[in-house]
Amino acid sequence: MFKPVHPVKSSLREFNRVNASENFPEMEKKWLKHWYEKGINKKYREKNKNSKKYFSFLDGPITANNPMGVHHAWGRTYKDLWPRFYNLLGYKQRFQNGFDCQGLWVEVEVEKELGLHSKKDIENLIPGDTKASIAKFVQLCKDRVLKFSKIQTEQSKRLGYFADWDHSYFTMSDENNYMIWKFLKKCYEYGWIYKGHESVPWCPRCETAISQHEMLTEDYKELVHQSVYFKLPIIGRENENLLVWTTTPWTIPANIAVAIEATFDYSLVQGNANQKFWVAKELVKMVFKENYKILKTVKGSDLVGLKYTAPFDNLPKVKEVADKNSEKFHIVFATDKNILPITTTEGTGMVHTAVSAGVEDFKMGKKLGLPMIPVIEDNADYMSGLGFLSGKNAKKHPEIILDYLKKDWAFAVVAYKHRYPACWRCKTELVWKVEDEWYIAMDLPSKLGVRSYELGGEKTLRQRMIKVAKKIKWMPEFGLDRELDWLKNMHDWLISKKNRYWGLALPIYECPACAKASAGKEGFEVIGSKEELKKRAVSGLEEFEGHSPHKPFIDEVKIKCQKCGESISRTNDVGNPWLDAGIVPYSTISKDNHSQPLYIENKEEWKKWFPVDLITESFPGQFKNWFYAMIAESTVLENEPPFKRVLGFGTQLGEDGRPMHKSWGNAIEFSEGADKIGVDVMRWMFTRHNPADNMLFGYKKADEVRRQFYLMLWNTYKFFVEYANLDKFIVGNKNFCSLQNSKNVLDKWILSRFASTVLSVEKNLKEFSAKDAALEIEKFVSDLSTWFIRRSRDRVWVNSEDETDKNNFYETLYAILVNLSIIISPFMPFVAEEIYTNLTGGESVNLESWPDINLKYKIQNSELEKQMEIARKVVEAGQAERKTLGVKIRIPLANLNVKSELSINFNTISNEVWDVVLKELNIKNITVNDRFHYPKIEVKVTEEQLKEEGRLRELVREIQSQRKIKGLKTDDKINLVIPKEFESKKDFIAKRVLAKEISYGDKVAVL
Ligand SMILES: [Zn+2]
Ligand SMILES: [Zn+2]
Repeated sequence: MFKPVHPVKSSLREFNRVNASENFPEMEKKWLKHWYEKGINKKYREKNKNSKKYFSFLDGPITANNPMGVHHAWGRTYKDLWPRFYNLLGYKQRFQNGFDCQGLWVEVEVEKELGLHSKKDIENLIPGDTKASIAKFVQLCKDRVLKFSKIQTEQSKRLGYFADWDHSYFTMSDENNYMIWKFLKKCYEYGWIYKGHESVPWCPRCETAISQHEMLTEDYKELVHQSVYFKLPIIGRENENLLVWTTTPWTIPANIAVAIEATFDYSLVQGNANQKFWVAKELVKMVFKENYKILKTVKGSDLVGLKYTAPFDNLPKVKEVADKNSEKFHIVFATDKNILPITTTEGTGMVHTAVSAGVEDFKMGKKLGLPMIPVIEDNADYMSGLGFLSGKNAKKHPEIILDYLKKDWAFAVVAYKHRYPACWRCKTELVWKVEDEWYIAMDLPSKLGVRSYELGGEKTLRQRMIKVAKKIKWMPEFGLDRELDWLKNMHDWLISKKNRYWGLALPIYECPACAKASAGKEGFEVIGSKEELKKRAVSGLEEFEGHSPHKPFIDEVKIKCQKCGESISRTNDVGNPWLDAGIVPYSTISKDNHSQPLYIENKEEWKKWFPVDLITESFPGQFKNWFYAMIAESTVLENEPPFKRVLGFGTQLGEDGRPMHKSWGNAIEFSEGADKIGVDVMRWMFTRHNPADNMLFGYKKADEVRRQFYLMLWNTYKFFVEYANLDKFIVGNKNFCSLQNSKNVLDKWILSRFASTVLSVEKNLKEFSAKDAALEIEKFVSDLSTWFIRRSRDRVWVNSEDETDKNNFYETLYAILVNLSIIISPFMPFVAEEIYTNLTGGESVNLESWPDINLKYKIQNSELEKQMEIARKVVEAGQAERKTLGVKIRIPLANLNVKSELSINFNTISNEVWDVVLKELNIKNITVNDRFHYPKIEVKVTEEQLKEEGRLRELVREIQSQRKIKGLKTDDKINLVIPKEFESKKDFIAKRVLAKEISYGDKVAVL
């Protein structure tokens, strides 16, 4: 059974009046203030502190860089919903929120604020003092994070989100950074950390590599670039040229070779001015359009080994490489399909290969032992030694290459539209650059070997991660496929960021001498903790003391190379920011949300929280980022999934279906949305939505939800309070079982419906489907309002003929509203609190327990629910029938013949239910499908009786409407004038419309 309905405090006789036009956002603010002033948030968090049941939710850190938008409120509603639900169920929880702090996104904003444009500017913040400049810059980054974390905290509170706000975790904390060190150390022990010399995507503004993880689909832009077809004269063949096409002309000075597909046919085509061009046969028509002549056709393999001259051969840097590598310079080679596939859908079938400026180019170069010409600096300026190009920016000034080519080398310059990647942070177009970066290897077997009973033979990180990912419950289910797709195809994890300041200090200490001696295979070490660093330090500890492990102070500390004894420094790089968020299952779980991680202090206790039960995030991007990083770090540390379940959700769009953009006027800042919509309505919009689908969000959608659900709930509550006060209803001590003894079938039915709803909401929330739970509640509130209350209006106030029945109605509705406020509190905490506290006088709905339904008490009566459902369908058919007949519902009918499409035995429906149908349809007898009659013994009424009843009903309706026009309160008494013909009914009328005196006249008048 439900636990006993809450008795009202004895002194509380009347419920507070309920306002029909309540200002809901103001009401929310009232409760917000109350909750924090009265310590309700704290009591809520401590409610189950001694419980043996744990619910472990882990917050994915929000980037503390700007105020929240309404889209943040979607995820944060889920992040509050389940903790609230499990709190009602009596589970112990941590209630910790997190902020993501380190990385480019903060740096870029601070740079903007200070008007800085480059690395040089940052290092010269305090003129002439690099170290002090970096210290200041890092401090400003920290300050920015603290500033916005405060704003986001206040906004989250406004959302009704209950958490341990004084102890949110910050990924910039010492605990977080040192835990990543521990992870990296373990990677190092496995032999998975290496320094790679690779072509990497690079942001010329941020002057740093952008890892494959950070290149999200949404950061690719449709751009038009000038592509160029250019000729490369073949050495030793008069007037014969290779015709090559590229969409990145800035890379042409770095050209080393031309790739062809050995199996394709290539044709030599006669062009203008006695020039001849080699092009893949299939592309000849596309390139030359018309008026061309094919001179001959050969297999691609016949062209391999040809050498050519190129446009920039006279630049010193190019010459130098040419001289040193004459064998492998400017040659035609057959491509390797697996590295650099060549197609015949566009281009010429001959591919410009710039080993230093492209991922595939670099790989081909490595395979064939080709040399390379690095051409750009970190900011994409051409390097020195490139003649007239040197010092000019390759990306900003493509015309310097194009203008040069147009003189003598270009065959055609064509505008070309393609999807091109930009920096995820500053939106600058990326370039490709060969750099030394640090990686975690995905495919190396562990150096420490594998204990087969432990791991099932998975040797590499990739294999282990795939196994771990499969143990996780992914919602929606396609999440697993997306994660596996990424895990199977991703490259090694690029974990370093060059030239940056605000980030994890990668604890890699490299000895240049030993590294050189071993060709980079050895000569570096990874430090795994602050203690280890202290132990190994040979200098700089004093300067570091008292500082967080960030630049520049961490770099004061030098350690001794274990091989050669030289004093060595930390690599200058900072870490990839996803390392920071990926470690949180290990670094943030502590006994009171702010002491040392339990993973280190007390692993047994930590295991009670790990793997966490739930994480929930918007999935675009996270498969490559947060989910990936957590799985990687947890696989290395414990070979366990970091979370048991992930609930992913889509993207929020404006209600016009377009992405939200300030400039398009469809973006809504959180605080503005909260004040206009009210957060309860907002939260309801989020929770009733299918998370797998993108969500359209805006003020119109909010109005719909408010009207269709929220106000229906409010008006139901208002109805109860208004009439319970008028009828001086006093809450008894009944529980749900005794309520079930009511003789009224409507009470039995709504109690059963409520029991079913509670069970179903509980089941759905335990299965993490907020949507199904919310829709159950909507359906119930609709049943409550449009059937239970509608059919019970004549049971209350002046309409009531039966005191016991009236009281049963109030008891039933009271019990339902109180318990309904409890089950909706995880969804809409503010209105739930308003209803709950007014009805019960209790301290807070937030300190309640979930209604406990014990099935043995048979509150649930599915047979009755089914009958009522049928009855309501018969009523619908009856209303349609009345419409066809053109007889208004006010006019009583002796019999109505209803045609129902239901093919059921109508005899199975009880008499009480049929009586409800008769009343709703305002008829004395019903016939369904010409066969079924109710009542069995026909109720006889004369035409005259019916007319009289109809006139009386019409009169009462008219008086009520006049009362309304006069603005009278429900319990205001009136003097009344009615036509003489109603004299015999005057007592009945007086009771129904609260008339003190009745006089007679031609027309109805309320005086
Ligand atoms: Zn950038
Ligand atoms: Zn050394």
